[in-house]
Amino acid sequence: MRLAEGLRRASGHARLAAVEIAIIGGGIGGISAALALQQVGLQATVYEQAPEIGEVGAGIGLWPGALKSLREIGIADWFWDLPVSPFRWARTATPAGQEVLGFDVLGMTRGLGYVVRRPDLLAALSACLAP
Ligand SMILES: Cc1cc2nc3c(=O)[nH]c(=O)nc-3n(C[C@H](O)[C@H](O)[C@H](O)COP(=O)(O)OP(=O)(O)OC[C@H]3O[C@@H](n4cnc5c(N)ncnc54)[C@H](O)[C@@H]3O)c2cc1C
Repeated sequence: MRLAEGLRRASGHARLAAVEIAIIGGGIGGISAALALQQVGLQATVYEQAPEIGEVGAGIGLWPGALKSLREIGIADWFWDLPVSPFRWARTATPAGQEVLGFDVLGMTRGLGYVVRRPDLLAALSACLAP
């Protein structure tokens, strides 16, 4: 059973619908979890220790599976409004430049990956959260 389907079934359960859900940490994981719950009618409160979203991290590479998840939690439209760069290959290398791993993202997944600025992604996710 897919996660969304499981959550949808569970949210119909009267006792679960009345549960107050707290998510500790407003990073990509916490906000995405809150959006997934919101999609099936469950409200969650996200608690974040940082006073605001800062410039933590640089670009984050999202593989097609991550993009599918973003579509499922309803932020696909926002995502395409962000400045993103597509990538077909992903490589990791030692500091000396010697390749350690290389992936043909398109060949493996039949989709492209996209690099997005982490603060942009977090802001887009946050904007989709119900107040
Ligand atoms: C250098 C680097 C590069 C990466 N590149 C990629 C990439 O290209 N693609 C990819 O998919 N992944 C990448 N990752 C992994 C990805 O960034 C993480 O898996 C992802 O950000 C984890 O999200 P998270 O929400 O679980 O945690 P975090 O982003 O760490 O968020 C946790 C949040 O919880 C808050 N918090 C912690 N404790 C408390 C508390 N007690 N009370 C309230 N709030 C609290 C923190 O302030 C923080 O905002 C990379 C990671 C690193 C370090």
